Amino acid sequence: SKLRVGLLFGGRSGEHEVSISSARAIALALSAEENANKYEILPFYIQKDGRWLAGDVPQQVLTSGKVPQLPENETPSANSLLSTTKNNLTRWQFPSQVGEVDVWFPILHGPNGEDGTIQGLLSLMQVPFVGSGVLGSALGMDKIAMKMAFAQAGLAQVKYVTLTRAQIWSNPCIFPKLCDEIEATLGYPCFVKPANLGSSVGIAKVRSRQELETALDNAASYDRRIIVEAGVIAREVECAVLGNDQPQASVVGEISFESDFYDYETKYTEGLADLLIPAQLPDSVTRQIQDMALQAFAAVDAAGLARVDFFYVEATGEILINEINTFPGFTATSMYPQMWAKSGITFAELVDRLIQLALERHSTPL
Ligand code: ATP
Ligand code: MG
Ligand code: MG
Ligand code: MG
Repeated sequence: SKLRVGLLFGGRSGEHEVSISSARAIALALSAEENANKYEILPFYIQKDGRWLAGDVPQQVLTSGKVPQLPENETPSANSLLSTTKNNLTRWQFPSQVGEVDVWFPILHGPNGEDGTIQGLLSLMQVPFVGSGVLGSALGMDKIAMKMAFAQAGLAQVKYVTLTRAQIWSNPCIFPKLCDEIEATLGYPCFVKPANLGSSVGIAKVRSRQELETALDNAASYDRRIIVEAGVIAREVECAVLGNDQPQASVVGEISFESDFYDYETKYTEGLADLLIPAQLPDSVTRQIQDMALQAFAAVDAAGLARVDFFYVEATGEILINEINTFPGFTATSMYPQMWAKSGITFAELVDRLIQLALERHSTPL
């Protein structure tokens, strides 16, 4: 009989819409001829408020690609995870279809999905799932913790300063001193980022004190943890990793664009970014990048899949690691599946491999 694959998508994250796009592409690949006789899809849509829906709504979201207009005070049903008790407290309630899933495919980007929270829930359910576990997901999501793991692994990266929301917001006296410190340590331009996000949401490239102050305040509205990085002038290259304990690295891809940096609009507006796969690089640089991608994967304890992003400073030959994404964009035109396509693994094969890796990892005794 067919394996029932629970597709989890949407989610309480700034990358909700991206997740829907990724889920549509994955659902399509699971219904492709070579997979359709092996897998049956059970879709679960997580609304922006965190409620889980099973049944018709998720199917409609997959078909239309649109975020459904649900009534604000929709009566919680057996199909949703959160329900309201008599005294107006919310409690968790799973849609009954959750119990029918053989393997989960958490197609979630950003907080509350790519960060270990869902992975903890699925681990407790004792059902196999695609991708990294709690530790890998959490380390891969938090840019501060991630950079600590990379530093420990000896991977080169840009200079950075870390701050908390409390330092930015609740202590006006120390704020100017913090800005002085950032200016002295990093200079301009620098990049202000919420530590836990993706798709460049909340990220700003700043060139002055005024821009720095505004960007810090804005980043603090997204996250308790903030990172500021020295800006580098470099080519942007990425490498895809696939596997569990013996992971493989793909060909290296490069992104080129005209905009100031690879921001949300550039990422998701057709025609604003060019993906060059494979990137035109000296063989030794390609090999170094692939090697660093595998080291990064191991450093955070990733599993299944990850996309590792780098800066290649052509003038000096330096390769700096930027970040790892444990659930990278997964639409038909996204870098991750495209880098595998150019490495000989089709989209349909890739999705199949990921599910098999989930089963393998689950069945491996601790
Ligand atoms: P993703 O969608 O890949 O998860 P993200 O939101 O985690 O992205 P980053 O990859 O950290 O964000 O940064 C987004 C983009 O901002 C980079 O691709 C790059 O264009 C620019 N950028 C970030 N940090 C730096 C830096 N230190 N120097 C130069 N450019 C940078
Ligand atoms: Mg990222
Ligand atoms: Mg990301
Ligand atoms: Mg990135």
